Amino acid sequence: MSEAKLAPIPDLGQLGNTITIYAGPCSVESQEQFDEVAECVSDLGLRWIRGGAFKPRTNPHSFQGLGEDALKIMKSTGERLGLLTLTEVMDSAHCELVHSYVDGLQVGARNFQNFSLLKKIGQVTAESHKMVLYKRGFAGLIDEWLAACDYLNDCGNENIVLCERGIRTFEKATRFTLDIAAVPVIHKLSVYPVCVDVSHPAGQRDLVPSLAKAAVAAGADSLMIEVHPNPPAALSDGPQQLTPAQFRVLVEELREIAAVL
Ligand code: PEP
Ligand code: MN
Repeated sequence: MSEAKLAPIPDLGQLGNTITIYAGPCSVESQEQFDEVAECVSDLGLRWIRGGAFKPRTNPHSFQGLGEDALKIMKSTGERLGLLTLTEVMDSAHCELVHSYVDGLQVGARNFQNFSLLKKIGQVTAESHKMVLYKRGFAGLIDEWLAACDYLNDCGNENIVLCERGIRTFEKATRFTLDIAAVPVIHKLSVYPVCVDVSHPAGQRDLVPSLAKAAVAAGADSLMIEVHPNPPAALSDGPQQLTPAQFRVLVEELREIAAVL
């Protein structure tokens, strides 16, 4: 019997989206912790590393982040490994400081309608055009999200990425409900690329790969994924963070359906 002739395998990376991944620990905890994740990210040929320096914690007694020390760690590691760095700015008073250390500034869900912060970030990035990753609030409407982009781009920085990160619904089986439909809706209504943070809606690491693949299938331009060398010991969001080994497997799986940077 002659062997069935198989069609050549298409280069799915060329057919599908090119996906940028913003991976890294929830919080920067130490030089060693950050470097371990950064080296994994760099070995995988990815371009960006994320990490929390100023953390928006629900409880003031929880770990608040290393602040400027974390920014220093991010900058030195990013330069050493040739990675771009992304961190959240929580307070208008920190905009210049954060801008001076990193390549991308994140607006967190809890600051979704902090208009003075949005305006200040727009001003601070007016000349540098550094990326602003603007997360949807967990009770935020898409209309409100798009309207508020004008605070960010008012001074001329159009380098904005809109990040869906899950919304509050009645469902408690996941930490937040990932609104996957937001991806095509934003593509229809806005020119800005769409990121899906798959870690915060999941709340549990075993759900992260499925949400990541769903986001790619829905047309996301980028993914945010939390990675920690030792998640049970993490100072924030331990249950949802992948180990570097788990992250590597996920990136390899995603590379079967898209080009991943
Ligand atoms: C984060 O990305 O570190 C974070 C705090 O996310 P969010 O603002 O979506 O809760
Ligand atoms: Mn987190």
